[in-house]
Amino acid sequence: MAHLAERLNNLGSEGAFEVLAKTKVLEAQGKKIAHFEIGEPDFDTPENIKKAAYEALEKGYTHYVPSLGVPEAREAYAKYVSKTRNVEVDPGQIIVTAGAKPLIFYTMMALVNPGDEVIYPDPGYPIYSSAVRFAGGVPKPIVLREENNFRLDVDELKRMVTPKTKVIIVNSPHNPTGSVLNKEELKAILDLADGEHLFILCDELYHRIYYNGEMAPSMYEFPEAKEKVILMEGFSKIYAMTGWRLGYGVLPPDLVPWFSKLQTNVYSHAPAFVQVAGIEAYNGPQDAPKAMVEEFKRRRDYIVPRVNSMDLVHCVEPQGAFYAWLNIKKLNRPSNEVAEYLLNEAGVAVLTGTSFGESGEGYLRMSYAASMEDIKYGLDQLEKYLPKLV
Ligand code: PLP
Repeated sequence: MAHLAERLNNLGSEGAFEVLAKTKVLEAQGKKIAHFEIGEPDFDTPENIKKAAYEALEKGYTHYVPSLGVPEAREAYAKYVSKTRNVEVDPGQIIVTAGAKPLIFYTMMALVNPGDEVIYPDPGYPIYSSAVRFAGGVPKPIVLREENNFRLDVDELKRMVTPKTKVIIVNSPHNPTGSVLNKEELKAILDLADGEHLFILCDELYHRIYYNGEMAPSMYEFPEAKEKVILMEGFSKIYAMTGWRLGYGVLPPDLVPWFSKLQTNVYSHAPAFVQVAGIEAYNGPQDAPKAMVEEFKRRRDYIVPRVNSMDLVHCVEPQGAFYAWLNIKKLNRPSNEVAEYLLNEAGVAVLTGTSFGESGEGYLRMSYAASMEDIKYGLDQLEKYLPKLV
């Protein structure tokens, strides 16, 4: 048995990939599975973006580029953030990454010393707590409560901040609950940071997957965010580009050289031709992402009333992202046991709430980035199988 480094004990993971592997085994045995486990659109990347990638390959974007990214891509992404947040963003603030995910790691590696505290939402995207622990930081989960529609309670957050707080992670629209913070709440959170001792990592990957308008309120709409906020943006969700691995950060200028250095040490830069395809995603027609969001809304509007008509399960209506956070507390069973049962007996793959933090006990996450046919079948199965557990 290899003698591994102790730091590995602090590393978490993402439940979605583990469940996905299990479903593949069951499917190979001939079982029908409704897939609600993974957070990726069931649509294909729009054709114009694929074409832009082929053309970029032909034009020679097949070599090393600067670690911060292809200059034209950084410029186009800065322009996009300027337009969608109505602020001036300098292309020099942009770091292009392979998916948005590395930004979580870079932020912790760049800012958190052992003993520093990091506040993040619980339930929340599991990589937040993993990266905090890996960096030696002290995890300070803030519980998002159902009675508050899973919105982060700003007063509670204020009480949690101490002189040791180094980073506050905000995610709106939120995975896994679909809650969305309003402008006043975002501003009050932003005011807690000073851009010296306390920074905000603001994960806006679902910015345009929003059901009450074209885009959700953004913390980056406030000009002072420039010095205090690491903004996470990307292409995975809104352009159905999960497998391309393309995201980017908008950084406080002082942090740029350090994030660049971190990236140089890990994988140098995101693939050059993929970065160029991202320019077309932003500058080309927007019909495909719009249609996708409309379809997610149609599914949400089907799922929520159906779930809430069942006796044993209910959910708060998500305002953004594409997840339903199902309360199964009436079953009085551990949520991982219920998730296992649904997968093995009912052929319904969901994630246990506890893979999003301790407060996820009593919940399941159902991603509705799945076909309407699967959704109807999956909910029929829930209706049939859940009563067998009581
Ligand atoms: N942040 C949140 C809240 C997510 O849900 C995800 C993906 O599921 C990510 C970040 C990572 O995105 P990417 O695939 O672009 O790395």
